[in-house]
Amino acid sequence: TAQKQTHGFQAEVKQLLQLMIHSLYSNKEIFLRELVSNASDAADKLRFLALSDASLYGDDGELRVRLSLDKEAKTITISDNGIGMTEQEVIDNLGTIAKSGTKEFFSQLSGDQNKDANLIGQFGVGFYSAFIVADKVTVRTLKAGAAAEQAVEWESTGEGEYSLATVKKEQRGTDIILHLRDDEHEFLEEYKVKSIITKYSDHISIPVEMWQDEQPEQKGETEEDTIAAVPGHWQAINKATALWTRDKSDISDEEYQEFYKHISHDWTEPMSWSHNKVEGTNNYTSLLYIPKKAPFDLWNRDAQHGLKLYVQRVFIMDDAEEFMPSYLRFFKGLLDSSDLPLNVSREILQDTKVTQSLRKGCTNRALKMLEKLAKDGDSYQAFWNEFGQVLKEGPAEDFANKDKIAGLLRFASTHNDDASQNVSLSDYLGRMKEGQDEIFFLVADNYAAAKHSPHLEVFRKKGIEVLLLSDRIDEWLMQHLTEFEQKKLRSVAKGGLDLSKLDDDADKEAHKASEEAFASTIERFKAALGEQVKDVKVSHRLTDSPACVVTDEHDMSTQMMKLMESVGQ
Ligand code: ADP
Ligand code: MG
Repeated sequence: TAQKQTHGFQAEVKQLLQLMIHSLYSNKEIFLRELVSNASDAADKLRFLALSDASLYGDDGELRVRLSLDKEAKTITISDNGIGMTEQEVIDNLGTIAKSGTKEFFSQLSGDQNKDANLIGQFGVGFYSAFIVADKVTVRTLKAGAAAEQAVEWESTGEGEYSLATVKKEQRGTDIILHLRDDEHEFLEEYKVKSIITKYSDHISIPVEMWQDEQPEQKGETEEDTIAAVPGHWQAINKATALWTRDKSDISDEEYQEFYKHISHDWTEPMSWSHNKVEGTNNYTSLLYIPKKAPFDLWNRDAQHGLKLYVQRVFIMDDAEEFMPSYLRFFKGLLDSSDLPLNVSREILQDTKVTQSLRKGCTNRALKMLEKLAKDGDSYQAFWNEFGQVLKEGPAEDFANKDKIAGLLRFASTHNDDASQNVSLSDYLGRMKEGQDEIFFLVADNYAAAKHSPHLEVFRKKGIEVLLLSDRIDEWLMQHLTEFEQKKLRSVAKGGLDLSKLDDDADKEAHKASEEAFASTIERFKAALGEQVKDVKVSHRLTDSPACVVTDEHDMSTQMMKLMESVGQ
């Protein structure tokens, strides 16, 4: 064997390890879920590569994970015959954290263990969770197709560095050997390990096996009563059927939840899910999840999103973006198609008709899930607070579903006294005044500015509700959302506002009188302001403020002008 080399962990890995060991203690058994999940991913990746090179299987085509407990050595070993890793892959995967935005994520950690443990949940814990229960971890791995002498041994006590050595390993795949801490010996009990696997990993599609000792023959009175001896053998302790291929009625909520954690690398329970088999023009199964919490990289442009793609149960790729529009990028899940070819690549995906109709199917399904969720006020509000900003990209991106998306939006409004966005357009319609035939809104820099805007005075006086918008994206949203159920949406800050239908006779008299009374004042304003303004008018919008700036109906709003300036236009 070659010499051992020592490497330092990336700073973020050190932080993660510290945090994990100290704060995930009450949840320590999840290390098994994470390691079995990785083994299953490794099997998926090998199966995919073997589609174009079957020789990668060698003489070992039955993919599985094996768990071995050694009470003497106090180790638990998770062994797979999946894809394995090269030395460089070991360095990249088990010494750094590859996710984009990792630095920013770690800078958010507060030092408060409870809060941080929660954040870590959304980040995903993965391989490093082994150190919750182990004070030393040894990884031995051989990449599929490589020679036995090229295997790599990685070892670490989780304290800042790890060692690497080239070793010999006959079988393809990865062994992870956990040297359990003194107080973690319960994980050497077979029943304990079995119950954890049943709880967390039943849905894994390859067998998770444990060794069954030989059973001696049990002699009965007669030959019929005698039970034959069973030789020692590896036995699957999970169902080993891909969850989404099973019948909905046979799958428990817990199984759906655990499956979500496996595919999403998220640690918290999902908000809801929908599992559908579609037969007809297209044949596919989809399983979609709405997460409870936004991932740390929701706003990172380089962050991966999209569904896990399978073709006829064979894993093809992660993060297939083609099946979900960007404004629904927070959905997690998978798609298993029978219509795409097994050798489908990203390029093929991008220009096949099948992709288009699958995308349409998944989008409709996702919007249906949201409509269903919207019927439960509290859950929907929680959803909206996490993902509402993303959904607001919808009307600009997806013209065909504009109306459905509009129905899902929530706004702050003058109807309430606080900034919470909880008014739907339908709520608004239900509260419109006699004679009102438009939906009024105001966009401002922040909620306080919106709430105190002089533009609202006349609406307050007449008791007409106005939606108060102050998110960065709102101006963009309102340019694309011009109508809802045949009612126009109108900015109260733009010209052409005609509330005369809502005036009573006394109002009309008063307006006429004031226009006459101010005629000469207006002339003096016009002369003084000259080219700086388009027009000066007597307004009936204001009750307390003396004057306000408005833009012409078809001009850019003041808000949009600021937005354009901020991006250098
Ligand atoms: P994630 O699974 O979210 O990518 P992990 O920390 O669990 O994060 O694993 C990091 C990476 O290490 C994996 O993406 C994979 O490339 C590699 N890896 C971990 N375990 C195995 C394994 N048993 N076989 C092959 N590669 C593995
Ligand atoms: Mg993992």
